[in-house]
Amino acid sequence: MNQIVVGIVGAGQLGRMMALAGIPMGLRFEFLDSNPQAPAASLGKLHVGSINDASALAQLADAVDVMTFEVENIPADVFSAVADKTVLAPSAKALGMAQDRLCEKKLFHKLQIPTARFAPVDSEQDLQEAADDLGFPCVLKTRRMGYDGRGQVFLHSDTELSDAWRKLDSNELLLEEFVDFEQEMSLIAARNRSGATVFYPLTTNTHCNGILHTSQAPSGNTELTAKARHYVHNLLDDLDYCGVLTLELFVTSAGLLANEIAPRVHNSGHWSIEGAATSQFENHLRAILDWPLGSTAVTGHSAMINFLGCLPTPEQSLDIPGLHYHSYDKAARPSRKIGHATIVAEQPDACEQAVQRVLEFYTPAT
Ligand code: AMP
Repeated sequence: MNQIVVGIVGAGQLGRMMALAGIPMGLRFEFLDSNPQAPAASLGKLHVGSINDASALAQLADAVDVMTFEVENIPADVFSAVADKTVLAPSAKALGMAQDRLCEKKLFHKLQIPTARFAPVDSEQDLQEAADDLGFPCVLKTRRMGYDGRGQVFLHSDTELSDAWRKLDSNELLLEEFVDFEQEMSLIAARNRSGATVFYPLTTNTHCNGILHTSQAPSGNTELTAKARHYVHNLLDDLDYCGVLTLELFVTSAGLLANEIAPRVHNSGHWSIEGAATSQFENHLRAILDWPLGSTAVTGHSAMINFLGCLPTPEQSLDIPGLHYHSYDKAARPSRKIGHATIVAEQPDACEQAVQRVLEFYTPAT
């Protein structure tokens, strides 16, 4: 039997974890990445090239049965141009929409998904007017290419506007009201080509300098879960979506506000490798191949701790009951995600205690 070949644009840790989920199902992987030593390189054939290069994408598309991505900054027109060569999942439309915070916000509004108040900012004059309207504090963000806290500036007064405008150096910005959130959560769903959909439980996330630091699942009450699922259902239907989609949310006293979507497997779903019957990585592959989706039932109370900039040793970590150790085979650099630990415990208290034990010997280097 011919093996099914999955193409992944990007060969970072997300691609690596996808391959680690797919190889046992008999899948073969090919990747496109400019780094010959990328974390997924040892798990399939690596095409070394730029994700911006139409011919490199075409070469990957020609070699695979289905093509997906683990990075969001592929030019959507370049991605869409290979649609006649292979199956693209998620679609170029979903990718393009998620690349622009303004398009994303407009989609949220069309689907009646609440967000913080915002205004597009294309000039310094717009910035002043938007700040007058939204008030302080507020957050100025680039519409494109912002991630892990990059491309955003928190503003507290009029005197900071000019510096922020110069710092972000773009005429495609967005000013957002500051959200005094109680918690940050995410909801991850998978939808296959036939429309079957599964949801993971709400996950609570904490950040360190804008970078995800910890996740805990399951979280939230039934009311929040129902609301979040309703929002994600609407997004999936509107985009005729195929694959895993993540919605990042702020929990406020007035309810949930959508922050942004990620059209891919997400760092806040890494706990699902050991903490759910089927991981987000396996369900993404099942979805893009239009296979039946797996149960998302949790196996206990889970936590994920990102190892940012430094990696504790397995000897230190594996002594903790229920801990699973993941290293991405990446060199350590400040703020870089180089591994994570998942903890699965029967009781929430035991899970929390294990997290505290990890934090005794691991401090993020950001
Ligand atoms: P983002 O790149 O939009 O995901 O933002 C990164 C992090 O910055 C979020 O996870 C929040 O912790 C924080 N943040 C972003 N936007 C806002 C906002 N409007 N109000 C308060 N905090 C925010």
